[in-house]
Amino acid sequence: MKIAVVGTGYVGLVTGTCLAEVGMEVTCIDIDVKKIENLKKGILPIYEPGLEEMVLRNTAQGRLHFSNDIESSIQDADVAFIAVGTPPGEDGSADLKYVLAVARSIGKYMNNYIVVVTKSTVPVGTAIKVKAAITEELALRNSYEEFDVASNPEFLKEGAAIDDFLKPDRIVVGVESARAEEVMRRLYKPFLLNGHPIIFMDVPSAEMTKYAANSMLATKISFMNDIANLCEIMGADVNMVRKGIGSDPRIGNKFIYPGIGYGGSCFPKDVKALIKTASENGYSMQILKAVESVNENQKSVLFNKVMEHFGGDIAGKTFALWGLSFKPKTDDMREAPSLVIIEKLLAAGANVRAYDPVAMAEAKHSLGDTIVFANDQHDTLIDADALLIITEWPEFRTPNLKVLGKLMNDKVIFDGRNIYEAKEIQEAGFAYYCIGVKTNL
Ligand code: NAD
Repeated sequence: MKIAVVGTGYVGLVTGTCLAEVGMEVTCIDIDVKKIENLKKGILPIYEPGLEEMVLRNTAQGRLHFSNDIESSIQDADVAFIAVGTPPGEDGSADLKYVLAVARSIGKYMNNYIVVVTKSTVPVGTAIKVKAAITEELALRNSYEEFDVASNPEFLKEGAAIDDFLKPDRIVVGVESARAEEVMRRLYKPFLLNGHPIIFMDVPSAEMTKYAANSMLATKISFMNDIANLCEIMGADVNMVRKGIGSDPRIGNKFIYPGIGYGGSCFPKDVKALIKTASENGYSMQILKAVESVNENQKSVLFNKVMEHFGGDIAGKTFALWGLSFKPKTDDMREAPSLVIIEKLLAAGANVRAYDPVAMAEAKHSLGDTIVFANDQHDTLIDADALLIITEWPEFRTPNLKVLGKLMNDKVIFDGRNIYEAKEIQEAGFAYYCIGVKTNL
């Protein structure tokens, strides 16, 4: 099959590369000239474990190509994926201008039957707009080429994207014709061999599925953060409560970890977009509004603990931050809680020394030289008055407490991800704060 993937971000690049990996002829297209120039040289725009090696291999074997030229890439393609961004507009709704621009280009250049697949996260009703844009372009050049629009939301997790794509929990495809279903079934056949399910449905349901999935996950996080905050007030330990509820299979033990709030490029914008879709259609998503507000509040919880510990004055103090990305194993800084915490620390007159294994280059775009980017995790600690755990990268999990104690000014740890045992840290002479447990009685 000949595939065009438009948009070479986290989703497009992973999709294109994994389809090439199972033998398809794939061209990944982007409007960003520098990005494509780099990809042709084997330089990736993002960090995603295992992706670089796979891109290099498939490029070398001649199945994976990169191009800025949508015209030649779309011609003779069997399937065109739209995998461009859908950022939130000012009112919170998903901005469809990139998706519709790609749809118009496809209409302009397609020269045979093609299935146009929206992989971007888009609100219910977008497929109709995509179809209309393509039809308009075809009409402008008096073309009657047939096409179908399918919705195929992506569920990959940054940091585990390749595994998620190659071994999906499920593949959701919304189609409106048997012909499109047959093409999509053929496309995904190599990924279904070990029993991974493909679920066909109507297009609006597929579009809605993605928002419902992300909103449910965001709800789990905010729910646990709410419970954690109450645990702390009431003298309960959320780590125990988590285990206690997670062993009920109806609840499950995944994704119920308290922390400093969700971030990233998906949950915040998708929750907002679903609230907006509902309100535009006369419905109020009450749970999701609470999910958002709990999350906003949670981003300040660690900072509030810092202020309380230091008696409300941190001017001139230095804080070591371990982790900047919104979660481990990614360099994605979009909506990262670290940005809120850093802003608050700086506004209160403190200094910040931060280290992240892969996200520092990305973080520099928004933080510039307002903080010190340290060479490694220990370098952050020099003269630090406290250490803040922001992202639970595996290398932060077993710190050498003796070294920490020697490097730091003051022995205090604020653990925003509950990765340490309070007892062990306290026995080493540190004051220890985490989420949802009263640790310094
Ligand atoms: P991204 O911002 O990393 O990449 C988007 C790419 O599209 C950029 O390289 C941009 O240059 C390119 N682009 C924009 N307009 C273009 C055009 N007209 N022609 C060609 N290229 C164009 O975005 P992403 O994180 O990959 O997300 C893409 C979509 O997938 C979004 O709707 C997002 O919500 C959804 N999604 C993302 C994830 C994730 O984990 N990142 C997971 C599932 C779904």
